[in-house]
Amino acid sequence: MNELKIAVQKSGRLNESSKKLLEECGLKFSNGTGVLKSTATNFPVEILFLRDDDIPQYVEQGVADAGIVGENIVAEKKRDIRIVEKLGFAKCHLSLAIPKEDEYHGLEYFNGKKIATSYPEILSDYLRKNNIIAEIEEISGSVEIAPGIGLADAVCDIVSSGSTLMTNGLKEVVTILKSQAVLVASKNLPQKKVEILERLLFRIRAVKNAGEHKYILLNAPESAVPKIAEILPGMKSPTILPLVEKGWVSLHSVVREDDFWERINMLREAGAEGILVIPIEKMIK
Ligand code: ATP
Ligand code: MG
Repeated sequence: MNELKIAVQKSGRLNESSKKLLEECGLKFSNGTGVLKSTATNFPVEILFLRDDDIPQYVEQGVADAGIVGENIVAEKKRDIRIVEKLGFAKCHLSLAIPKEDEYHGLEYFNGKKIATSYPEILSDYLRKNNIIAEIEEISGSVEIAPGIGLADAVCDIVSSGSTLMTNGLKEVVTILKSQAVLVASKNLPQKKVEILERLLFRIRAVKNAGEHKYILLNAPESAVPKIAEILPGMKSPTILPLVEKGWVSLHSVVREDDFWERINMLREAGAEGILVIPIEKMIK
């Protein structure tokens, strides 16, 4: 009873990444496939496998203490729960799309149209805010085929690369919401569970930080060190080790994945050689 119960999607796009995140946090599970629950053997956590749509409700009601779910579902369900942390995976957006041959000059396009979606709450709020009067056709899946079969004029659906829209003859015209997986939690957790959540969150941040950074090693003439240290400030400042060859050092630091390529070019221009880039498993700031 004292375990923190975390709801995770049973199967689908979030399932693998959610389990992987918890495993990278060091949690070991006695997994079977098709099970509804799994208890960690080395951390006070129990996982409940559920449909993603149900997760906000279960967290609000206290059936689960926390959950991993897309921001799109959190926004749609409007449950009284807390977003604890963005998790950096399952990035996508909720967009309006129309038949690709239609001309589009602005939101007025949607006046009087019928829009198919699995996100009626988000869509109706959005239309209301923008003074658009349209009919919403709620369907639970395969929204992108609705215009093709004559069920609707347009769709409001989840997009990542846009290829599904394209194969269905649609084009994306407006992004309504950007989404990624988030850790959500109940607003009334007992102190004991808050403490477990904090411990888990510490680990999640270490894993996330590690994924966003690379360890970098390079050789450089001593004279180039001040310039290189400016390009690679690292967590505190870079480490320098002498090389056997006089006047040369090996410099170690940490670089953000985002601006990695740009920095590599700057480093080479500054005189760096033999650059090695290595993944980091955990990173605690
Ligand atoms: P369930 O059976 O649990 O209800 P589902 O079919 O509703 O599953 P999935 O398609 O598995 O849901 O998507 C789960 C979540 O993954 C979505 O709510 C969204 O946050 C995210 N997602 C959906 N499509 C994509 C995509 N193309 N790229 C990245 N993330 C996505
Ligand atoms: Mg779902």
